[in-house]
Amino acid sequence: MTLLTDNRTIVLKSSDAKATDVVDSNVNQTDQKTLLLLKPRGFCAGVVRAIDIVRIALEKFGPPIYVRKEIVHNRFVVEELQQKGAIFVDSVEEVPAGERVIYSAHGVSPEVRQDSKLRELRVIDATCPLVTKVHVEAVKFAKEGYSLILIGHRDHDEVVGTLGEAPDVTQVVGTPEEVPFLSVPDPNRVAYLTQTTLSLDETKGIIEALKIKFPNIKGPAAQDICYATENRQVAVKQVAAEADLVLVVGSDNSSNSNRLVEVSRNWGTASHLIDSYKDIRPEWLEGGVKRIALTAGASAPECLVEEVVKYLTEKGFGNVEELEVMPENVRFGLPPEIVEAIASAPAIPAQG
Ligand code: SF4
Repeated sequence: MTLLTDNRTIVLKSSDAKATDVVDSNVNQTDQKTLLLLKPRGFCAGVVRAIDIVRIALEKFGPPIYVRKEIVHNRFVVEELQQKGAIFVDSVEEVPAGERVIYSAHGVSPEVRQDSKLRELRVIDATCPLVTKVHVEAVKFAKEGYSLILIGHRDHDEVVGTLGEAPDVTQVVGTPEEVPFLSVPDPNRVAYLTQTTLSLDETKGIIEALKIKFPNIKGPAAQDICYATENRQVAVKQVAAEADLVLVVGSDNSSNSNRLVEVSRNWGTASHLIDSYKDIRPEWLEGGVKRIALTAGASAPECLVEEVVKYLTEKGFGNVEELEVMPENVRFGLPPEIVEAIASAPAIPAQG
């Protein structure tokens, strides 16, 4: 693929291409402060879908629209939807009986679905289809009599939801060190699944430990770590070794954003997670920092990235290059409740 920038052309031929594959340059790299904008970055298909669902529900049905948990893990997105009339709650028990509730992109356990039913809530499910895939796998393995090892972060909304599909046979592990202590009724009937937003490298280490402990362990047919998580990590790896600093736009409760910071640091490159340009500390740009790579987690909107670009440009990083590591064209369809609403209901003017 070829990428044209103001100053030079960068060609990245494949996923193993390096940012050094510069074929036409009229820029003296050592003299100019450079900002490398990584691509793909920011919103994934699951996040676009989840935000669209809330916006369309507000437009078509009008407030109040309740949303269980943060629709996606980004402060800016949540506040914007709040201003438009969305009411975020921690539990469906906070939703008045009979009202509309939207489940977040991270998914819910069957228990939550049951509670919603008892309260006669009108549910719209914004669970990302790639999270649903993991739920389906959990149910399948449990039905077949497997003990399940779920690799992930215990307190993350997604893991809580997946765990709820088969709580009696599922154990959560977050590090390779925990693996030797696992105990199951039949070591020959064990399967593993993973959270969708983990570090590829760290997950590999945990899976290797599991294979040593349970040589016959089964895994999902296709990796559970989603395409968006993988692509953003691969993009960071392409440049981390050559950048002086990697900035990641994302909120501190966003798993995939935090993993991008870790990937950079694992390459020995300083990296920080920022909610917006306001979090950038002047000292981060000192000490000979000449090449900054900028990316964004899957729940971070592009407008926040643009603000960071503007800020860094003003700070002297005027040579801005967008580096496309791979194309990303994934889209997910909307749930039936929203498709029907679009087809039938007249729009109600949105607030805010
Ligand atoms: S990060 Fe992956 S799993 Fe999560 S919402 Fe986006 S596409 Fe879906």
